[in-house]
Amino acid sequence: MADQPTLAEIASCVSGYDPNALPVAQAQEFIARLVPRVQAVEKLPIRSALGRVLAEDIVSTIDVPAHDNSAMDGYALRGAELRADAETPFAVAGTGFAGAQFDGAVPAGHCLRIMTGAVMPAGLDTVVPQEFCRLDGERVIVPAGVVRTGDNRRLAGEDLARGEPALKAGRLLRPADLGMVASLGRAEVPVRRRLRVAFFSTGDELRSIGEPLPEGCVYDSNRYTIHAMLTRLGVELLDLGVVRDDPAALEQAFRDAAASADAVITSGGVSVGEADHTKQVMKRLGDVLFWKIAMRPGRPMAIGRIGDAILFGLPGNPVAVMVTFYAFVRDALLAMSGAAVEPLPMLRAASTEAIRKKPGRTEYQRGIVSRGPDGGWQVKITGSQGSGILRSMSEANGLVVLHHGQGNVAAGEAVDVLPFDGLV
Ligand code: AMP
Ligand code: MG
Repeated sequence: MADQPTLAEIASCVSGYDPNALPVAQAQEFIARLVPRVQAVEKLPIRSALGRVLAEDIVSTIDVPAHDNSAMDGYALRGAELRADAETPFAVAGTGFAGAQFDGAVPAGHCLRIMTGAVMPAGLDTVVPQEFCRLDGERVIVPAGVVRTGDNRRLAGEDLARGEPALKAGRLLRPADLGMVASLGRAEVPVRRRLRVAFFSTGDELRSIGEPLPEGCVYDSNRYTIHAMLTRLGVELLDLGVVRDDPAALEQAFRDAAASADAVITSGGVSVGEADHTKQVMKRLGDVLFWKIAMRPGRPMAIGRIGDAILFGLPGNPVAVMVTFYAFVRDALLAMSGAAVEPLPMLRAASTEAIRKKPGRTEYQRGIVSRGPDGGWQVKITGSQGSGILRSMSEANGLVVLHHGQGNVAAGEAVDVLPFDGLV
């Protein structure tokens, strides 16, 4: 793509850009400027569209609900006929059922027995829930003061009004959104095509599951956490395995990945002291920067383009992989998917203990959030915080985010926590 800015041009737009001590916020801004959005659109049946990115505004072509209707089982009547300080008797003109229009008349002094969802006949504006009423022979007695005019009536178009945008393009479709699309009578939703993401692990010490584990080697775990994190994002995956520290093998892997995917994620081989060939091959094949980010864990990272694909060269340490993924890659992939990216909500929780923290870098400590004795949220840091200790991530239910400018935290002080689990 010819009209893309170069990495140097992007860097010049990011104020305070310093590749050797890059604050997290600047790295995020750089990446947001770097990544393109997929353009292709496909139409999907509603049931297949969960988690996909809406490609166009959905404008309501009808009022939902189409008619004023009852929100309760009870009696529909004219609110003006209710006495303010005494009970009011009504004769019953008939019954209105949901889905079947009552087409008789409801004269003055009459009410209509009505079911939830049944259309309100013209002139009736109020529904008294049946549990408030008393029957006296053929008549319904409504006590004073149990409803006001307009109560328990749903107005036509109050959910979705004709001509109004029901959902905006860029929305990540959630269950309620799909229900709304259905309530408009639409069977299909236009969504952006799924992002394709290729990934592989680099490092001569890595072994794949099923292979023997010689002295000094470790099983490749990053590919499994990356696979899982990408699966949660709903992208298409291309797992290219473990790639040996060999220039030809690395070149082939990068070429294959860039040719078939929108984004390429690697882990390992990007730190300063690296003896291996990963950085050289990245540099040779693409326009790539090597950052030292002011964060912990996850200092080294490569970012750039190889062909038309965006490269995220994550560090090798398993916790650093996950933290850099959530700090940078997640939002970038969502943006590439065409989603309107919102910052993730954070909890404020009281730290159960003091935490040492140097200003001038962002730290992501693994924590367990629970209810404290006073009913508020508290967070306890999980054991050892080494960037190779994946257990710290597994035990945690949130990331404690200690911001760039923040210093030591006292016991009991509130900190920001990114919870791992969401509701929908
Ligand atoms: P590197 O960034 O390549 O220097 O790797 C840093 C540390 O992470 C080293 O201890 C590596 O053995 C480890 N590591 C790198 N890649 C992986 C992986 N895919 N799975 C598990 N550990 C890894
Ligand atoms: Mg390595």
